[in-house]
Amino acid sequence: MSQSGTGQSGADLALPEADWSPASLRAQFPILHRQVNGHALHYLDNAATTFSPLRVQEAVAGFENHSRANVQRGMHQLGVEATDAFEAARGSAARYLNAASSEEIIFTSGTTFGVNLAAHCLGQLLRTGDEIVVSVAEHHSNFVPWQRLCERLGLQMKLIPVQASGSLDLDGLETLVTERCRLVAVSHVSNVTGSVTDLKTVSRVARRRGALLFVDGAQAAPHGPLDVQALDVDCYAFSSHKCYGPTGVGVLWVRDAVLQTLPPFLVGGGMIERVTCEGTRYLHGNRRFEAGTPPLVQAVGLGAALDWLMELPWPAIRRYELGLTTRLLQGLSAIGGLSLVGERQPQGRAPIFSFAIEGCHSHDVCQILDDYGVALRGGHHCAQPLMDSLGLTATSRASLAVFNTREDVEALLHALQRTVELLR
Ligand code: PLP
Repeated sequence: MSQSGTGQSGADLALPEADWSPASLRAQFPILHRQVNGHALHYLDNAATTFSPLRVQEAVAGFENHSRANVQRGMHQLGVEATDAFEAARGSAARYLNAASSEEIIFTSGTTFGVNLAAHCLGQLLRTGDEIVVSVAEHHSNFVPWQRLCERLGLQMKLIPVQASGSLDLDGLETLVTERCRLVAVSHVSNVTGSVTDLKTVSRVARRRGALLFVDGAQAAPHGPLDVQALDVDCYAFSSHKCYGPTGVGVLWVRDAVLQTLPPFLVGGGMIERVTCEGTRYLHGNRRFEAGTPPLVQAVGLGAALDWLMELPWPAIRRYELGLTTRLLQGLSAIGGLSLVGERQPQGRAPIFSFAIEGCHSHDVCQILDDYGVALRGGHHCAQPLMDSLGLTATSRASLAVFNTREDVEALLHALQRTVELLR
């Protein structure tokens, strides 16, 4: 993903560029070397979930085999080691996001949980007549929780429209975000078009009106370290499984000044200060939002994944990715009847490409591509309001990870050409 305007920071810990090559990266992903339907695997569904490098798998196995115990309550050596590993993972997440403190990191089960947590807790601070602004391009995970909150509390939900390309149309934002608006919720990167939201503009308008800014970072976080302070947002959520980490864990970052105002979400063990038969006092800070045993093994894996990501030479990776993007866009545009949904220029976008082919259903397209070992996602991508706005019901979507190569792109273009010939 291009760095400009994304809040994506360089990686200070990065390996020298000379030590990096797609082949050296691919060696860390054994799954890439399997076959599918008699073909080499060309996995291009990374926006749905991606793979874990050996280093992450080893970190998980090392924790399981050496230090597994419950955290924050163990009165023994293993409990102390497990707590240290869990808190080290929190530190990695804080560094990855350039959070002011690891106290601002809440472990969740993923982006969806993070949005629901925020909607529930922030919702308790809202009143009938307040407004929430959400974009029409959101993944359902960053749409339905806010819609439901508005229905429940009698709030007004206003929608940022999209341009024909599917990118957010921010021209009317000043008018849309009124003094009654308490919260703006947008994604950093669209899971359908790969378009990058101009968060600085959104944040400037939200700040002027005194509204909070919640960001769904599920599709931005996999593309390199971020800087939530420079982006000037209030909450940022992402999922581990799209960031080369284990499933079942994610991060919700909340700016400390906001975190301190929030009531609890789930209640139970691990988040209390004192419970009596008469009532309960809750812990302050991030632990207030981590009731019960957290996904500690997965969090340790996520910490390893984020450390691994921070060591990658991002400038070199972005240059390589730009080459793949340029070739992919050019190849897609040469396929008859194919229309790309999203921006056509290779710069300033994430490597997520949706397209529709006249006369071919995306499910059929994906099924035939699979016969060639090419894995894509087809459907509405959990973004039905966006599909409705664009007059579409479904698209096929290719999404790149750091291990994808020119061979993957050529395999897709070749198989797509064959698919079109077969279906039309
Ligand atoms: N937001 C966006 C933009 C996504 O792409 C996704 C998943 O594809 C989600 C939220 C939901 O993520 P998860 O299923 O990991 O909670």
